[in-house]
Parts: sequence; structure tokens; C-alpha cells
Amino acid sequence: MLASDSTQLLEPLIYDLGAPGRIGVNLPDCDVPESPMPAELMRDDLALPEVGEVQVVRHFVKLSQLNYSIDQGLYPLGSCTMKYNPKVNEDSARLAGFAHLHPLTDESGAQGALFLMHELQQWLGEISGFSDVSLSPAAGAQGEFAGILMIRQYHIDRGEGQRDIILVPNSAHGTNPATVTMAGLSVRELPANDKGNVDMAALHAACEGELRDRIAGMMITVPSTLGLFESTILEVISTVHDAGGLMYMDGANMNALMAVVKPGELGFDVMHYNLHKTFSTPHGGGGPGSGAVGVNEKLRPYLPGPVVGVIEAEDENGAPLYGFVMPEKSIGRMKAFHGNFGMHLRAYAYIRVYGDSGIRDVTRYAVLNANYLRAKLMRTYTVPYPRYCGHEFVLEGHVDNVDDVHALDISKRLMDYGFHPPTNYFPLIVPEALLIEPTETEVKEDLDAFVEAMEAIAEEARRDPETLLNAPHTAPVRRLDEVRAVKELVLCCAPALAARAL
Ligand SMILES: *Cc1c(COP(=O)(O)O)cnc(C)c1O
Repeated sequence: MLASDSTQLLEPLIYDLGAPGRIGVNLPDCDVPESPMPAELMRDDLALPEVGEVQVVRHFVKLSQLNYSIDQGLYPLGSCTMKYNPKVNEDSARLAGFAHLHPLTDESGAQGALFLMHELQQWLGEISGFSDVSLSPAAGAQGEFAGILMIRQYHIDRGEGQRDIILVPNSAHGTNPATVTMAGLSVRELPANDKGNVDMAALHAACEGELRDRIAGMMITVPSTLGLFESTILEVISTVHDAGGLMYMDGANMNALMAVVKPGELGFDVMHYNLHKTFSTPHGGGGPGSGAVGVNEKLRPYLPGPVVGVIEAEDENGAPLYGFVMPEKSIGRMKAFHGNFGMHLRAYAYIRVYGDSGIRDVTRYAVLNANYLRAKLMRTYTVPYPRYCGHEFVLEGHVDNVDDVHALDISKRLMDYGFHPPTNYFPLIVPEALLIEPTETEVKEDLDAFVEAMEAIAEEARRDPETLLNAPHTAPVRRLDEVRAVKELVLCCAPALAARAL
């Protein structure tokens, strides 16, 4: 992703490689009669490169090395849970019976896939304490959207369509207020107290004041995006319920709760899972995700569909027969076909491999690793909420008496030390926020190496701030204009192809 004026070409384009007549495949002689291609499908302006296999492999391997991935090292991008993606997940997703299954296959020919989806629905329900789960949303944000639409419809069906306010803490992920707005409801922001938790006086005021009859519900992330468990969560839930609202849990931080705390049993009515975070399905680069939603009895009829159900307790072989069902008052479909099945497969493999006690260990190590890093880094940096954290924590990305160095400079310099930067400037309520989430898959040596790098960077900030201000020095591209890169995205091949067409 390069802004147009910084389009440094790091590798020659594949289109500029090769020479006429070079080929990468050896086809056998044709043993069927040849027939001409329809003329309207033939074109000679494609200018496809003529290259050998080794050139193609080297080209794409070099391109892949320009990027950083979890397979190379620590990726402490807070809130995103960049945990290692086990390769057995990938093997499972490539099993021919699954990989080649067409989405229009008749249910009777897809019983294996339906069984898997049904079991995954049940396991996710079990892990979080919800009675029903739909796998159809394609991302966390879409799960949120489904959840808020369900809450809205629930109130409308009870003759309480005037309930149009969703309470959202000010530490929330940007998708939360965006979701509320897209669902046609309005956001009321709640401040945090000095411990980083919801300010209970503000919550009571909102739920017991003149807006009481307009409260549709509350969306809250547990542990919060500050990485902190809401110590008054039970009172938060009962306060909103007493006002007639429903409780939505943003489940992006389930890596701190799995197999230890069940949100459904705390009293939440609906939650989304990010299978691409907590359950290790690959993400980044906007690839396919899965934002399954879990609900309790109140919202069950509204679930987005179709969900997988047991159609007949026993078929002629004595096995249950599975099929797709649309819940009776469903808010509808969130996604074509059945959601991102490839992600369901990988999450299923992940849960199966770990099993019950393994999943609990995932949570424990994620929390242990975060607290270990927090304790070590507190010696050098300011941690605004110095309490035990969940699976991530925030520190302030500045060094005492060095005013020119900001969180962004520290992050850029970390790249030179071989680490992916943490999340910058989120949550918004902490100045110079660096949100650090090591995940459970890192060993102590790697955590220690990260601490050493952060300490060395603080030292450099005092001695030689220019090094930080000009970082990164070793990355394939230096500092980019990140706003322009997003607003004026230039995909590399296009200029070359466009030039060729002129
Ligand atoms: C990642 C995240 C989301 C959104 O999930 P996507 O899958 O990226 O759409 C929502 N809330 C929080 C707290 C998150 O970390």
C-alpha cells in the first residue's frame, strides 16, 4: 500500500520479468481433437509475462518477505489478538471433502460440513454460556450489527420501538458506535472512572433518569479495550436490565475469558466472537473473518440465518440429519450462503486440538504473558492503570523529559528491532496510547527480547531522539504518509499496466 508519490518499486513487477518463449509448465501432447477458441474471447493486449517457475517462485517469495507476519515474530497488536495460526488448521481447511464442497450442494450431500458447523455452534455456545449461535456474520463488526439489529427488533416486537439509545463506554472500539448508528439507533457515551472502568454514577444517571424508557441496551467490551476487567460488571448488567435494556458484549477480547468466565452466565443477552482473533483463524489484510453471534433465549428467534439444526433425530443409518433452518423472526441473512465456512473449519480444528483444558490454558497464558510484559515495562514507561490486566494492557508511549518523541516514533523504531508495532493511539482516552497484546503463543525469551527492545528505545530517545524520529531504518519502505496511502491507494501493478496500454 503506497501513496502515489512514494511508489518506490521494491521489486521489478512480474510483468517486467521474463523473455519471449520462457515457460514454467510442461504440458503433455494434446490427446483430444483441438477446437478453436471463440474469437470474442481471444485478446492479444494482455502482455502476460513469459517466465519460468523459478522466477515466479522467487518473485513472490521476495514480495512476501517485504511484509511482517506472525510466522516471523511477536505481533503485539493490541485488541487484534494476532496469535499464531496453527498449521493443522490450514491442513484441515484443505481436506478435499471440505475444500471442494460447493455452497449449493444439497444438504443431504453436505452432512459432514453441517455436522461440523452444528458442533462449532454448540462449542461456541458452551464456551460463552449462550443457548444459540449463528455462524453467518463475516466479521466482528458484522456480528455487532447483527446483535444490535436483534436488540432493536426485540423492542419493536414488544411494542417498545421508542427504545433507541445504546450506551457505549468511551473506551469502546470505533465499530461499536458505528454499528449503533448504522442500525438506526443513537449512541450515548459513558465516561470511564479513574480505574478505567465504567463510571457507575454516570450509568445510573443514564438508566434512571428521563431517558430510561429510551434505553435499548448497552454495548460493552469485557475486558475493556484498556485490557481491564470491569469489576462492577454484574451491577452494570443489572442496572441496564432494570431500565428495560439488553446487554451486548463485544467479544473481541474473549482471549482473556475463554473457559474461565462465561458472558452468558454473567447476564449478557448477546455477544459476537471474532473467530479470527480468539480462535486463531488467519486475519490481517482484510481477508475473510468470522463474527459468529451467540444469544440467550430472549434473542434466539431473531438470530441471523440460516443456522444449522438437527432436522431428524435419526436417519436410516441411525445418525442425526442436519439441515439449515431460518429462525422464526430472523433479522435475515448477513452473508451469502452460510458465512465464511473456511473460517468455521479452522476454528473447529483449533478448539478440537486444544480441547477443554487446553482452551483454559490459552486464556491463562494470554493473561500471564500480558501481566509479565506489563510488570517489566512499568519500570521504563508509564502504565496509566497499574492494575492486573487481562490479555493486554496500555502504556503511554513517551519517555520522561523527551517531548519530541511520540508513541508513533517508538512503534516505528520497534520495526528496526524486528517486532511488529503495538496498536497506536487506541483506546482514545489514553494519551500516546500503545496497546500491547502478546498473546499466549509467545515464550519467555521472546517476551524478554521485546522488553529489551523497548528499554533500548527509551534509552535512545534520551540520547539520540533523531534515530527514533526517522525510524524505521531497516524496513523496505521508510515513513509513509499513512493518510494518503489509504485515501489514494495505488496498487502496484496498475501504473505499469496503464502505462503499457497508452
Ligand atoms: C477487532 C475488534 C472489533 C471489530 O472486529 P472485526 O472483526 O475487525 O470487524 C470490535 N471490537 C473490538 C474491541 C475489537 O478489538
